[in-house]
Amino acid sequence: MLRISGLHKSFGATPVLRGVDLAVRQGEVTCVIGPSGSGKSTLLRCINHLEKVDAGSIEVDGGLIGYRESAGRLHELGDRAIARQRAGIGMVFQSFNLFGHLTVLENLIEAPVGVLGLSKKDALVRAREKLRRVGLADREDAYPRQLSGGQQQRIAIARALAMEPKLLLFDEPTSALDPELVGEVLAVMRDLAAAGQTMVVVTHEIGFAREVADTVVFLDGGEVLETGPPGKVLDNPELTRTRDFLQRVL
Ligand code: ADP
Ligand code: MG
Repeated sequence: MLRISGLHKSFGATPVLRGVDLAVRQGEVTCVIGPSGSGKSTLLRCINHLEKVDAGSIEVDGGLIGYRESAGRLHELGDRAIARQRAGIGMVFQSFNLFGHLTVLENLIEAPVGVLGLSKKDALVRAREKLRRVGLADREDAYPRQLSGGQQQRIAIARALAMEPKLLLFDEPTSALDPELVGEVLAVMRDLAAAGQTMVVVTHEIGFAREVADTVVFLDGGEVLETGPPGKVLDNPELTRTRDFLQRVL
């Protein structure tokens, strides 16, 4: 579903991603862990076309080629191709990013109508189905500010799901939440994983990664230092740097 090879990205003279390779199969969950500043958010933002890459390739679902380097030249997609590819990729941010002036239901139908061209009627059916999936069917008329942080994040997940993305990206989805609200969001993510949603999750929730991830990637200094099943990377890491990081977050 996702194949990244040799991805490089710098901000000015500062290299942030230095040759990242990553592959995620359909239906798999990949958790990305690593210290602050290691390039985790930048990696997700490159996948979702929120950043331009400097070199390397990102393929989403085979046919959809993000960037491709050949003969030393970077081929970039046109705006329409980018828009099409982005419509297949959902992203959930740390800070929810719901539209505050829209109700929950309005938040959920906005992109399906505006981007996918669904009729309002079809978008409403879909939105209510997604709200049921995150356990918030009874809050469709609420405004974001009337909801707890955990509920807002579940709505943000439902909004991403309303696009029926092939690939769903999460950037520290529970980091902004009070501790007692983390569990309800992780429970929704666990359900999605069990239902076969392909996901890349940047998280410091090591317990979640151990339980849900097929693959854990340890990113440090813009490089993938270690990758493998959770039993290896989390419980039996090869590198001292991985071990030190895990000791700090656990
Ligand atoms: P992480 O998510 O792992 O904490 P980021 O991907 O956010 O790391 O950032 C990696 C590095 O890139 C940091 O040093 C950060 O300051 C820098 N960086 C991120 N975004 C930008 C930007 N838009 N302009 C300049 N530097 C940036
Ligand atoms: Mg980040």
